[in-house]
Amino acid sequence: MKADVFCTPKIYETTFFETPQFLAAYNIYPIIRGHSLIIPKRHAERITDLSAEELLSLKETLSIVIPKLLKAFDADSYNLSINAGEHAGMAINHLHLHIVPRSASDPLHGKLIEFYHTLNNDRSGYASDVKKEVARLRKVFKYTQSQTQL
Ligand SMILES: [Zn+2]
Repeated sequence: MKADVFCTPKIYETTFFETPQFLAAYNIYPIIRGHSLIIPKRHAERITDLSAEELLSLKETLSIVIPKLLKAFDADSYNLSINAGEHAGMAINHLHLHIVPRSASDPLHGKLIEFYHTLNNDRSGYASDVKKEVARLRKVFKYTQSQTQL
């Protein structure tokens, strides 16, 4: 199996929270501010590859991350999505859930169709804020260092 970036320590550069089985990391190409990922530490490609225990852990991870992420970005709504497979737009062949905080004032408001088109467009305009946003999220989550390195 070929190692993808989510199977390397590089993912810890943008990680802001972790549990024994999952990481929460800021997307390095956020479609809007706050766009983050939930990633299993164990290499799995599809959500259906997860065990029952991992699914329960995923649910618990989402229950911790989502409310804090929304608060950190002044959002009251979110999109939660998985692109499973190349033809669904999956760029890295390692399961990851996209969490996109949404609010009435965000640039995607009322534009769900454009939201999906945006997934395939240039997002570099938000990339310059990645380090700043990761630092802010690490503060929100009181995250100091990895407890379980890959
Ligand atoms: Zn992997």
